[in-house]
Amino acid sequence: MTSQSRKKTKFQAPRGMSDILPKDQIYWDKVERVVNKLAREYGFKRLDPPILEPTDLFTESTGAFTDIVEKEMYSLRTKGGDKLTLRPEFTPSIIRAYLESDLSSLPHPVKLYSIGPIFRHENPQKGRYRQSYQANFETIGEQDPVLDAQLIQLFFSLSRELGLKNLITQINNIGCPCCRPAYRKMLVSFYRSRKKGLCSNCQRRLQQNPLRLLDCKEKECVQLAEQAPQIIDYLCDECNSHFKNVLEYLDELEIPYILNPCLVRGLDYYTKTVFEIWPEDGEGRQIALAGGGRYDGLVKSLGGKDTSAVGFAMGLNRIINLMKQRNVKIASRTRPLVFLVQLGDLGKKKSLRLFEDLRRAGLETTSSVSKNTMGAQLAMADKLKARFALILGQKEVLDETIIVKDMNSGTQEVIPLNKVVKEVKKRLKKSK
Ligand code: AMP
Repeated sequence: MTSQSRKKTKFQAPRGMSDILPKDQIYWDKVERVVNKLAREYGFKRLDPPILEPTDLFTESTGAFTDIVEKEMYSLRTKGGDKLTLRPEFTPSIIRAYLESDLSSLPHPVKLYSIGPIFRHENPQKGRYRQSYQANFETIGEQDPVLDAQLIQLFFSLSRELGLKNLITQINNIGCPCCRPAYRKMLVSFYRSRKKGLCSNCQRRLQQNPLRLLDCKEKECVQLAEQAPQIIDYLCDECNSHFKNVLEYLDELEIPYILNPCLVRGLDYYTKTVFEIWPEDGEGRQIALAGGGRYDGLVKSLGGKDTSAVGFAMGLNRIINLMKQRNVKIASRTRPLVFLVQLGDLGKKKSLRLFEDLRRAGLETTSSVSKNTMGAQLAMADKLKARFALILGQKEVLDETIIVKDMNSGTQEVIPLNKVVKEVKKRLKKSK
């Protein structure tokens, strides 16, 4: 998923999408293992929604005037006439599943996590893909600001276990339906008198999604955003105290953060807390590793009861890019304990069964049944750093024996075939 040199072949992966090659699986294994472990430790249960969802689910939750819905969705109409979309984010799917499968009857908060691909038709560039992968966490059912802080804590625990330090949270509070309308009005009036100074995109967005103007990256808009009224001055008491509490919890946890009054996250459903986590040193300019926030109105707007919730998603491709960039070392898989060498027709035939016996006995075993010479197979055993080679030729099969070769010392010994598991285990124990 990072920069891969690609050949011009008859068919190629679609633009912005790529294969995760065998050499990179070590990173993906590690990330998935750490996500699963920490999710369990923090009390999250896994939920895997389908990749396709009804298009309206995203239009009505992510928001009709957001970049995702306006420009980036991969939508299709099925032969039966259904309008479906490849998920561009997890949250709407998770809330749909929470309501559809009656997870609301579980004790609250209901904590759910997912790992999988998302699809956004963006302009591909380093760290921005059309198919990327996220680990997504949602805590549904309670308003307590401690839950917002705990999700950020979870991200920092994850990144620490993945060997990533020097990250920083950007955080803001974008108000609620009680205080945001007044702020929105002030913002529109501020920008209206300066409309000519805005980029064409923001001129268009001014009516539909004015908060979005604050985090536009165009130079002229950045300058204006610095002078724009700040939401913090318009928050109602409840949002103010929520924000204060979240920050106090972050202080308590010693989680690094900066207040970013221009962080709005652009999706319709967010209320109160919004946050993103970035590399501190600017290595990943424009490359947030994770983002999320509180969305106290979404469950109700999708047909459920009035239910608060908070969540975040981390971008696994970007996490892995950063692990590589910072040379994070991952302990490679343990070397195979046993390499099974087979010689001749009889040896090959018997080795198939013996491989299964060794594997079932818990000995990590490798073989190469398509290589026929002793030299080629021993060279492979050596390359894989196998601890023992077991050599099964015509003679050994007839004698019901097998040769055990210690790959460290080079010594070898003939032993009865039916004792091979016991013998290898004994030798392994001794050599520890
Ligand atoms: P968002 O909710 O859009 O902020 O997404 C959460 C996280 O997912 C981001 O901080 C990124 O790390 C990752 N992400 C989102 N879109 C992409 C993309 N197109 N390519 C790679 N990573 C992405």
